[in-house]
Amino acid sequence: MPPATSQQPIEISIVIPVYNEVDNLESLQAEIDASLVAFAGRYEIVYVNDGSSDGSSDKLAEICSAHPEAVSIDLRRNFGQTAAIAAGLDHSRGDIVVTLDADLQNPPSDIGLLIDKLHEGYDVVSGWRRERKDTFLTRRVPSAVANGLISVVCGVHLHDYGCTLKAYRREVIDEIKLYGEMHRFIPVFAAAAGARIAEVVVSHRPRIHGKAKYGLMRTFKVILDLVTVKFLLSYRTTPMYLFGGVGFSLIALGFLALLLALVRKIFYGVSLILTPLPLLSAILFALGMQSVLLGLTTELLVRTYYEAQDKPIYVVRQIHKERKHK
Ligand code: UDP
Ligand code: MG
Repeated sequence: MPPATSQQPIEISIVIPVYNEVDNLESLQAEIDASLVAFAGRYEIVYVNDGSSDGSSDKLAEICSAHPEAVSIDLRRNFGQTAAIAAGLDHSRGDIVVTLDADLQNPPSDIGLLIDKLHEGYDVVSGWRRERKDTFLTRRVPSAVANGLISVVCGVHLHDYGCTLKAYRREVIDEIKLYGEMHRFIPVFAAAAGARIAEVVVSHRPRIHGKAKYGLMRTFKVILDLVTVKFLLSYRTTPMYLFGGVGFSLIALGFLALLLALVRKIFYGVSLILTPLPLLSAILFALGMQSVLLGLTTELLVRTYYEAQDKPIYVVRQIHKERKHK
């Protein structure tokens, strides 16, 4: 492979978030170089040191000075894996971007599988750790539940959202903004923008050096994120359909409760003070109106969001005949 100093454009960027992985970095660099040696194009490795305190920063500086294809970015503090990946994406230049963990659990030799699949005509290729080497109860079971939920709720069926080893086409990844801990949802956002998604089985190894940074708590965060993602997917441009829908349903229930109270009063002589129905009806009306008003407010917010950044509500794949003038 030609070194990164040549003038050829960069074909592949490998983006790696690093948080206290000092003992993995040298082998990682060596394994990546060994697995990309057969590629004809140019590649770069973008390490993002996410506020490590174990000497990863110095180790990365050492690696970068010995390997022209490697660059490393030090974040000022620990911002989290998603932010580290976002920083890597922003600072990478390749037409294809591959994200990879620094812990050596995903062998870099699988990168080629993802890239071959991408060349079959996909925009995103996701790794699937079918034989995952992590603890059963605290990692594999919650992850299976989360993957099932995300697939059903978002309608994009992947077995392993949590696998960082994924490959993306630049034009697809550039359109996606990452917040919180949402890097695992990139395929969902990409699919919503019309990207073609595929999955390939990748190998997985146990962690030898360093510690896993996550535990069971992450599953709860993933489920909360899923609510946000579902909202963004289905109601991003039409929040009134959600809030207005809920609001009108509540108001309808309020009417029913009032009607029932009146029927009981007129036909059975039950006094309105002896039943909670009028109070229930008032509460339902008030909540319903609140929800409709919230819908109107969010409609205004959505317009500000799109118009402030001149963001279209559609995504163009390509234009067949470029016109010179509007
Ligand atoms: N990581 C990071 N910032 C963090 C936590 C993790 O950059 O705050 C990196 C970490 O160094 C590793 C990757 O994200 O390269 C995944 O972390 P880990 O292996 O602990 O997660 P797991 O594989 O157990 O889900
Ligand atoms: Mg790991």
